Amino acid sequence: MRAKCLLCNQIDQISDDDPLAKRLRNRPIHTYTCPECYDRISRKAKTRRGVTQSTE
Ligand SMILES: [Zn+2]
Repeated sequence: MRAKCLLCNQIDQISDDDPLAKRLRNRPIHTYTCPECYDRISRKAKTRRGVTQSTE
């Protein structure tokens, strides 16, 4: 499936087997964030909060 990054408007092709694709099917397409932007955001969030939390 195709997913458009919310932040940089890049369109990525992601595998239907990807857990991310399964998640996106249940949510609006515009919630997708490409790995590059996601990494930037998560690093920024960690720096701000000063904690390292795992969502797993
Ligand atoms: Zn992006």
